[in-house]
Amino acid sequence: MPATKFDKESIKNTIVGKVQRYNGLTIEEASPHQIYKAVASTVRDQIMHKMIESREVWKKQKGKSLYYLSVEFLMGRSMYCNMLNLLSTKEYTEALEELGIDIKDVLKEEPEPGLGNGGLGRLAACFLDSLSCLDLPAMGCTIRYEYGLFRQKIVDGQQVEMPDSWLDNGNVWETAMMEDACEVHFGGHVDEIEINGRQKFVTRDYYTVEAVPYDMPVVGYDATIVNPLRMWSARSPKKLDLNRFGEGRYAQASEEIELAEAISKVLYPEDRHYEGKMLRLKQHYFFTSASLQYILKDYKKRFGNDMSKLPEKVVIHINDTHPGMAIPELMRLLIDEEGLGWDEASAIVQKTIAYTNHTILAEALEKWPVGMVQQLLPRCYQIICEMNRRLCERLWNCFPGDWDRIARMAIISYDNVHMANMCVAMSYSVNGVSKLHGEILKEETFHDFNLVMPEKFSAITNGITHRRWLMSCNPELTDLICESIGTGWIKEPQRLSELRPFADDAAFREKFGKIKQHNKERLAEMLKERQGAVIDPSFIYDVQAKRLHEYKRQMLNALHILVLYNRIVNDEHFTMEPRVFIFGAKASPGYYRAKQIIRMICALSELIDKHPRARKMLKVVFLENYDVSSAEVLIPAAEVSEQLSTASKEASGTGNMKFMMNGAVTIGTLDGANVEISEQVGMDNIYIFGMRADTVRDMYRENNYNPMNIFETNQEIRLAMTQMIDGTLMPNNPAALQDLYHSLLLGSWGSMGDSYFVLKDFGSYSMAQRRLNNDYANRDKWLKMAVTNTAMSGVFSSDRTIHEYNDQIWHLEPLRKPEPQKEAADAPKKEKAKPVRLKSGK
Ligand SMILES: *Cc1c(COP(=O)(O)O)cnc(C)c1O
Repeated sequence: MPATKFDKESIKNTIVGKVQRYNGLTIEEASPHQIYKAVASTVRDQIMHKMIESREVWKKQKGKSLYYLSVEFLMGRSMYCNMLNLLSTKEYTEALEELGIDIKDVLKEEPEPGLGNGGLGRLAACFLDSLSCLDLPAMGCTIRYEYGLFRQKIVDGQQVEMPDSWLDNGNVWETAMMEDACEVHFGGHVDEIEINGRQKFVTRDYYTVEAVPYDMPVVGYDATIVNPLRMWSARSPKKLDLNRFGEGRYAQASEEIELAEAISKVLYPEDRHYEGKMLRLKQHYFFTSASLQYILKDYKKRFGNDMSKLPEKVVIHINDTHPGMAIPELMRLLIDEEGLGWDEASAIVQKTIAYTNHTILAEALEKWPVGMVQQLLPRCYQIICEMNRRLCERLWNCFPGDWDRIARMAIISYDNVHMANMCVAMSYSVNGVSKLHGEILKEETFHDFNLVMPEKFSAITNGITHRRWLMSCNPELTDLICESIGTGWIKEPQRLSELRPFADDAAFREKFGKIKQHNKERLAEMLKERQGAVIDPSFIYDVQAKRLHEYKRQMLNALHILVLYNRIVNDEHFTMEPRVFIFGAKASPGYYRAKQIIRMICALSELIDKHPRARKMLKVVFLENYDVSSAEVLIPAAEVSEQLSTASKEASGTGNMKFMMNGAVTIGTLDGANVEISEQVGMDNIYIFGMRADTVRDMYRENNYNPMNIFETNQEIRLAMTQMIDGTLMPNNPAALQDLYHSLLLGSWGSMGDSYFVLKDFGSYSMAQRRLNNDYANRDKWLKMAVTNTAMSGVFSSDRTIHEYNDQIWHLEPLRKPEPQKEAADAPKKEKAKPVRLKSGK
């Protein structure tokens, strides 16, 4: 076996050699981007060595594999985490240093693949990291969007969207896998024919889109395995029509090609909201069908044609309902292509597919108009109808005559295909993403299904990879932890709890505090450099960073800041611990109210800056273009983590876990994983406020909440809200925030105003903030809380999450490292010393 760990000298030689061969330049002449490419391709070589080893073991072991289908994978940059997982950060940093290059300048050159909106896509990325670390064989499957999530600029206090063309300079990490390209068919009509007395269904007059996979390797920390993220790209099978081209009909000549290729052109920027758009359905089916065709092809290659063993060798996990077409598509492939009967196929599907639900928000539950499915996927539509017929038959036996209930549970009702119902009915496992969310799924969202098939339901709390979200983004804190409790926690993150006694160690606390201060300074520099914002690193850093959505209640935070401003301005004796409120949030381009909230935050920032006394204690900054890379600087610097969702609405949250792990103290509601964070750290180390989930549910049921009562009785709220529309906040355009103002007070058509209870929870939030402010003044007390948060964050490592998925749902065998043969075991050591000769890319 060749050594896979490069030493410093061979790294240096390789980089210099690559710059020479690729660019014909010396290292001194090369641009930062050219150097980035040379370094990245060196790291890649190292990964490829590992991948070959890992595939050999995988082939021999013949175990079960996981296919994790997700329409989003928010990977973030790869280079540093790859170095970290290869245990080579030190070697690379030093090698570059000796070449006169600062590694930070190289890392900055990597474009971030923004192939996700937020939490759901980032979860998929954390899962891949943990799967590789735990040596579990898996493939991530998604779409290779040419344009990821838009880049956000703030212009005149408002969000402006710009395209994110992340592939402009190529993607060093991917490899096109042409031999696995396949066809995906759309449209046409289904004919029933008889062959040898057997009824068969064939689709005719369909159109074809070619699916080309690109694989990105995901290395595990100090692990054997390298798992691929497979990204499908859409291509037209038609070549440019040269006749039309010759006739000067350029547009027509390329029209069909463009239509096919539109499928993987751009990521939909809606988070927790779906629209019944045809192109989106095409995207979902495109990557699902391509993935399933590949899965079956590979299964047959490894295990032969007996499909009955599929559930023993393959598990297909669908991340939310977006890849839910995997269900009829697998049925179709088994019946039409493999010749199985309905019952046989259906039994296999129901043992192979597992589903995770991510939200209970009604606007996020996918439903597709029947006509659209029928037109685009005629054979799948037939299969969906038959699944629905059989489901309703079964339900009729359980609930005779209960039409309302059956309509709620049906796959097809009121001319829509209900994806969540299909996923629950046809998969063997349905899980929520936190304890609370799991309970809500069983008691509310899927209450009826839970009566019929309770064995399917479970809850597995989300997690984050501590490699990226602690070791890579907060190296100083990582070193301090290793100095204090050793390195065992890296492989067993729950052992971070060994840090807990250090909360009472004054010397440790000081070190912890100093590191936080460094990270605060680092963030201040980034904000200065990127957007010219100047913040004082002695202020409390209070951060709310997540997608902009009414249920996440950035509005509650903003309104409270305005109230603080009024206290300062109207009472010359009022003081508080100086605090900078930092927001990071993209709003979906079509979500008007979310964009208005960004406007309000930017207006607040200006208002405060204009007031000489207010700006000594208060500051608001809107961080532009919140993405994984900026999160990696922002989160280690945070002291307060704002997790304000209306209880029951945030299924889990993962941002909350990242902040906690980096020693920020949470102010939040008992929602999603906040509940479990509060259990871990104890009520003394978190600021909990607001209504509980069950109270929120009762409020909706009773439907008698009137925010106007609060507006009329609470003077601070009334003043702040009035300033939204009287020209105080918006001197140049006093009417601009009118819709926001009204949304907090007035309902329409029987629904209430303030449907996320901003005003209702305000008082409780404001009191929690007051306690937080007072506690911060006591530095010892605060640092104790901060240390405790880091110490108790180990359970929120995605390693724990993946262990639970594997024990309860997937049942994969870890890839066993090859037995080191005695003679061979010494060989790599010798080999290690000499520079590794690598073939150049060409
Ligand atoms: C973790 C993460 C999220 C999810 O944050 P929540 O607070 O859980 O909504 C969104 N965006 C990015 C870039 C993240 O890293």
